[in-house]
Amino acid sequence: MFINGKWIAASSGGSFDVLNPATGDVIRQVPDGGAAEATQAIEAADTAFRDWSQTTAYQRSAYLYKAYEIMMERKEDLARTMTEEQGKPLKAARNEVQYGADFLLWYAEEAKRINGEILPSSRADQRFMVLKQPVGVVAAVTPWNYPISMITRKVGPALAAGCTVVMKPAEATPLCAIAMFEIFEAAGIPAGVVNLVTALDPKPVGEVFTHHPAVRKLTFTGSTKVGKMLAGQAAANMKRVSAELGGHAPFVVFEDVDPAHAAKGGSLVKFLNTGQACISPNRFFVQNGSYDAFVDTFAARVATMKAGSGFEDGVAIGPLVNQTAVDKVDRQVQDALSKGARLITGGAPLKSNGLDKGYFYAPTVLADVTEDMLIYREETFGPVAPIIRFDNETEVLERANDTEYGLAAYVYTRDISRAMRMFEGLRFGIIGINDINPTSAAAPFGGMKDSGLGREGAKEGIMEYLETKLGGFSV
Ligand code: ADP
Repeated sequence: MFINGKWIAASSGGSFDVLNPATGDVIRQVPDGGAAEATQAIEAADTAFRDWSQTTAYQRSAYLYKAYEIMMERKEDLARTMTEEQGKPLKAARNEVQYGADFLLWYAEEAKRINGEILPSSRADQRFMVLKQPVGVVAAVTPWNYPISMITRKVGPALAAGCTVVMKPAEATPLCAIAMFEIFEAAGIPAGVVNLVTALDPKPVGEVFTHHPAVRKLTFTGSTKVGKMLAGQAAANMKRVSAELGGHAPFVVFEDVDPAHAAKGGSLVKFLNTGQACISPNRFFVQNGSYDAFVDTFAARVATMKAGSGFEDGVAIGPLVNQTAVDKVDRQVQDALSKGARLITGGAPLKSNGLDKGYFYAPTVLADVTEDMLIYREETFGPVAPIIRFDNETEVLERANDTEYGLAAYVYTRDISRAMRMFEGLRFGIIGINDINPTSAAAPFGGMKDSGLGREGAKEGIMEYLETKLGGFSV
């Protein structure tokens, strides 16, 4: 763990295993921290805040540029650590490292644009000044599916704003977090400004994060269930919260597009990270006239996807995170089949060719999915594409919005008026129109409804770490 500029073991002396999800092998052990370390880290961050918040934006920017440069130098090592620990194919891991680094670069730039305002007053002898100031100590909890970019997406804007940070990474991916904090250390970021607490049991750390009086903000990425619980605890103590939670993205294909083109985009985005992404499509709505052609071309693409270790060439499907994830995916698939879905390809855990030691599930396509199936409502977080038939635009808009989630949605159409109507009508935070990758450090990422609060990335991302202070001056 990295606390107050030093690498330390757990006070209990305990540690836990980090596993390779493709093989089940133990890669390394890391310290098993708890409430004591979380408290120590928050106190270090609170002390460090006094000086860090007084640095100039230009100084903070320079640290972030430095961290970005070191990330670029270590890109290949970071990607390999990610593939080993998290399982995604090496090429995808390299892409994530770059995406993660982009947040450091973006916020190195945004640090210099935290502007205030002078407002006119109705009183001739009064002036109003609005000042932006860092909120204080930030507690951050990150997930395992994007184990590097979810760190920089929080640490980048927090540091740029002048906040200090205490982070707890997911128990499945502490090695990526350690590698990132080694970079922050190498960039010379002062002691106590960034702190890392690793723990097998997240609960005691979460308790301290949401109760310690020095913490002014909680930023969380993970499941809706845990996010709501932590946001509730934090709100009870009047801490600010941003939360990026689950999703259930609709992917709507109108019959005015080439179904093969839409199927290509849909299969690429669905199986990215083996479906373990909050913006992964979870319901493919395909209009009547294109339905059969879409199902056929989509399934033909999916059937050729190779599963295996992310270090092997040509592998598109890595392992799921653990056995629980495999069981959840299979439960949804079996439920759909028992209620009349058609299995086009896949449909079972993968056990042959040495895959039995890892957590593999065959890339799966289900056609004729209906509203009574679990997969129609529950987030899958796995390599299953459920395809649903629809008739017209009004119907599909209503059905696409019929979910408690509101993160990402995708629409394929060549009709610009329809594209605009769908963009305006979908109640989701991120809409891809003929576009399967509507993400960038420069673009605001986040959801509505049960998908969360606040935005990350872009100019909005830094606002989450700033207080607004009003000065009224009589002259
Ligand atoms: P998933 O089900 O995808 O693993 P989680 O929401 O459980 O998603 O995990 C996301 C992050 O939240 C991880 O860092 C995890 O350790 C953390 N987490 C899970 N439960 C708690 C909790 N009770 N208190 C604090 N953090 C938690």
